[in-house]
Amino acid sequence: MVELFLFSGANVHIFFIIAKAGGEHRGKIYSHAEKPLIIGLCVDDSMVIILRPKIFSLYRLKAVSFNTLFSIFAKNIPQSKVYDVIIIGAGAAGLMAAGVAAERGKKVLLLEKMEKAGRKIRISGKGRCNLTNARPAEEFLSKVRTNADFFLPSFKDFSNQSTIRFFKKIGLELVTERGDRVFPASGKAWDVADALVRWAQDEGVEIQYHTRAVEIRTVVGRVCGVKIINKKGFPRNIESENVILCTGGVSYPATGSTGDGYLFAHRLGHRIEEVRPSLVPLVTGSSLARSIVGVQLRNVNARLVVDGQVVREEFGEMEFTSRGLEGAVILRLSRDAVDALIEGGTVKVVLDLKSALSEDVLQARISREREALEPSAGFGELLRKLLPKPLVAPLARELGISVSVPQKDIMPEQVDSLIYLLKNLTFDITDYRPFDEAIVTAGGVAVEEVDAATLQSKHIQGLYFAGEVLDLDADTGGYNLQIAFSTGHLAGKLKK
Ligand SMILES: Cc1cc2nc3c(=O)[nH]c(=O)nc-3n(C[C@H](O)[C@H](O)[C@H](O)COP(=O)(O)OP(=O)(O)OC[C@H]3O[C@@H](n4cnc5c(N)ncnc54)[C@H](O)[C@@H]3O)c2cc1C
Repeated sequence: MVELFLFSGANVHIFFIIAKAGGEHRGKIYSHAEKPLIIGLCVDDSMVIILRPKIFSLYRLKAVSFNTLFSIFAKNIPQSKVYDVIIIGAGAAGLMAAGVAAERGKKVLLLEKMEKAGRKIRISGKGRCNLTNARPAEEFLSKVRTNADFFLPSFKDFSNQSTIRFFKKIGLELVTERGDRVFPASGKAWDVADALVRWAQDEGVEIQYHTRAVEIRTVVGRVCGVKIINKKGFPRNIESENVILCTGGVSYPATGSTGDGYLFAHRLGHRIEEVRPSLVPLVTGSSLARSIVGVQLRNVNARLVVDGQVVREEFGEMEFTSRGLEGAVILRLSRDAVDALIEGGTVKVVLDLKSALSEDVLQARISREREALEPSAGFGELLRKLLPKPLVAPLARELGISVSVPQKDIMPEQVDSLIYLLKNLTFDITDYRPFDEAIVTAGGVAVEEVDAATLQSKHIQGLYFAGEVLDLDADTGGYNLQIAFSTGHLAGKLKK
């Protein structure tokens, strides 16, 4: 049986078709009056609200007289609002946001599509989780590579020092190591994730695992709920006036971060800044690099040269692996290297293996080493005084000098070449490794469309963002998790 009610006004036409819905029709959407399952509501011939039993959705919003319309309509809809806020994604940002909202008395649902929370935290910091960095604020902020200004209010709300106090308060002992990097004293990243989950649950957060959000539902420019696929594989709608989107980026997708949040945000009118891997190994075609796989270097100065210009310089550790160039200094260079490669630039990494020594000082050092050696000692022995053993033969090859040539026969110009090589060991960078191997995702929800003071969307009321889903990323050293904690904390306050 079908009943039709038609209302009309200056700019409003409403029709209700009430049908006796059969189970086989559930989940289907019709926009035509002859299809008997719909309770539909049209505005200016351009908007349809489809009301199915207990569910409603709004399609093609337009700025028209919604208030009148909505008040008429609302009387006809059974309201089943259950949660004050739904948080999508139980990573570092989502767990923090959920706990903070619950602490403030909100009824909180945390949705996680994986079988457990914080999978990325659990593998972070090589299994030890470098959860923040204890540097002074200004230095800390200089390590945020994108949109540090936007991040500032979040950092002020919940700084690195707040993170340290927070974890101590929830019972996790911490240690600070070289470079002000903060780790759990147990050395186990799992302890960080477990402590966060325990805290959130103690605060009253309900966590649903194996539950994938597939749509953020809105009505009249405001959030009204989330459509999910539940653990049995069925679509369901859950109502809430607030949603915090904490789905992370697209790096290490096996942890659950597969970029769903970008799609949700885009559908709701948000611009997504191009996503690309950051903190990622760099690929080189160099046969020298292939011949020294496994070699780790400390105290190396690495310059990133793009189209002949030095664009960034880093000091620290690196290693040669089967994937290419890796390690802290390379990861820090990678963000600019990736951008340059995308733009078709010529990219090189130039290593200074003797950065503490000027060329003159190095020249004098080599002379001293030569005087101390037997004249008949091979060139390899001289190199051994200057380099780790695995580099000796490959670098001699690079110079075109046999390791067995007596060092007394090495000509001054060959010494100059050696000095140049030690200070300018160059690798052509041909590519970067994929998202699967990137520590973070650069790009994401454009911050211009998000209020930095609240992290609420400027388009959709009740929609908030936190963590890596935003266009924020930083260097290695605990900065990225702090971004997740700071933004999660601010978003969890649900400031209007
Ligand atoms: C190997 C590795 C090591 C790292 N080490 C460090 C480190 O030591 N220090 C540091 O500061 N940073 C580190 N990082 C970076 C840091 O872990 C991330 O920046 C941070 O975890 C991001 O947190 P997030 O909550 O924003 O996103 P994520 O941790 O990615 O969490 C997003 C969550 O959302 C869930 N989700 C996604 N889509 C949906 C959906 N549709 N429905 C329901 N749930 C969904 C995912 O399953 C996931 O649990 C590391 C990253 C990697 C990959």
